[in-house]
Amino acid sequence: MRTPKHTTTRTQPIQAFHVMLKPRGPVCNLECAYCFYLPKEAMYPQASFRMSDELLESFTHQYIQDQQAPEITFAWQGGEPTLMGLEFYRKAMEYQRKYHQAGQKINNSLQTNATLLDDEWCQFFRQNNFLLGVSLDGPKELHDAYRLDKGGQPTFERVMRGINLLQKHRVEFNILACVNNRTAQYPLDVYHFLRDDVGTAFIQFIPIVEKKFDPVQPFSYRSVTGSAYGQYLNAIFDEWVRNDVGKIFIQIFDVALASWAGLRPGLCVHEATCGQALAMEHNGDLYACDHYVDSSHYLGSMNDHSLVELINLPQQRQFGREKKSRLPRQCRKCRVRFACNGGCPKDRLLTTQDGEPGFNVLCEGYLAFFTHIDRPMRRMAELLQANRAPAEIMNLQHQPKGLCAGEKPRRIRYKKRQDEVSHV
Ligand code: SF4
Ligand code: SF4
Repeated sequence: MRTPKHTTTRTQPIQAFHVMLKPRGPVCNLECAYCFYLPKEAMYPQASFRMSDELLESFTHQYIQDQQAPEITFAWQGGEPTLMGLEFYRKAMEYQRKYHQAGQKINNSLQTNATLLDDEWCQFFRQNNFLLGVSLDGPKELHDAYRLDKGGQPTFERVMRGINLLQKHRVEFNILACVNNRTAQYPLDVYHFLRDDVGTAFIQFIPIVEKKFDPVQPFSYRSVTGSAYGQYLNAIFDEWVRNDVGKIFIQIFDVALASWAGLRPGLCVHEATCGQALAMEHNGDLYACDHYVDSSHYLGSMNDHSLVELINLPQQRQFGREKKSRLPRQCRKCRVRFACNGGCPKDRLLTTQDGEPGFNVLCEGYLAFFTHIDRPMRRMAELLQANRAPAEIMNLQHQPKGLCAGEKPRRIRYKKRQDEVSHV
């Protein structure tokens, strides 16, 4: 890996940042068709793809001491992070206890396909208060369309077995469901399945956008179109706002409510700027973001530099600022920009009608969704402002009708700010 120029000298602790850890790199026991991380194996030929104890300890020490935040979250990702084995995570807990500072709360989250879980893993997660994210796209026929193992075998039954174990041991988990060309056609089937059959109360929907180098068909057939994504979210929102507010938590709905309430969205995709959610590979290489693990976004190695030094690099701050400064005019003038902020730069693959680059593939969906939810979001924001529960909207028998003619979506201003930002 080439070494970038380091022009900063700042090494003091900074308020809060987030690093996604890849202790086993991109190695996974499955081969989901749209996994964007599996191809990263080619960046490290002959690598062991195992984070060493020395690196784990050094990272833990710096990650804790360098943040002036009341809560610190260690985010374990992959590939499949359980392939590191339980002993690795037992050591991680030891190091966290060793470097823990008074008054700081330490959280751990782990994103998994859940197929390798057993009682011992689940006992460990429960004892150490892990929050798990489980990848599950919907009912069997939808999940198994693209989530197969290395032998091409379906994985649904194994994922559900893992989820049952998590439930048996009362481990907290949420579901990460990808929205692809197939699931997009069945929004309520997916939602009802996750809510009623899986029994989860926390769901994140992740739109699949896969770029192809083909001028005729620039996106893979698995990708969801902007308009299908908007229809998908709207259908689920209508069901949720009538029956499930306060019971089921859907990330993009919470993010939107925060924006309508004048708070920060709390999710990098819809923040005005980003750049505080980095990714660290198994060997200490640090990158600008999980979606930008490539040579142009390589910041340096923790073997040569301190974590703070790498995070404060000017190029990383510029990366974060460009989310805003590179917004095309169409977004800058957009009536729902306060909630959308142009989406993630990785999806800004189109040009606007007047030929400006950097326009989000999902724009049509974002525009439809943020417009559709305006009226109920205003009501929920008003309830919040009056110190009442947004769930009361269900008693008001409110029917979401979208915008009134001539009305412009707007947020209600609050003094309170929300500092925590999460990452997809
Ligand atoms: S908005 Fe996109 S590029 Fe920015 S941190 Fe989030 S995922 Fe990465
Ligand atoms: S809805 Fe479309 S135009 Fe508006 S901010 Fe989002 S991506 Fe830009």
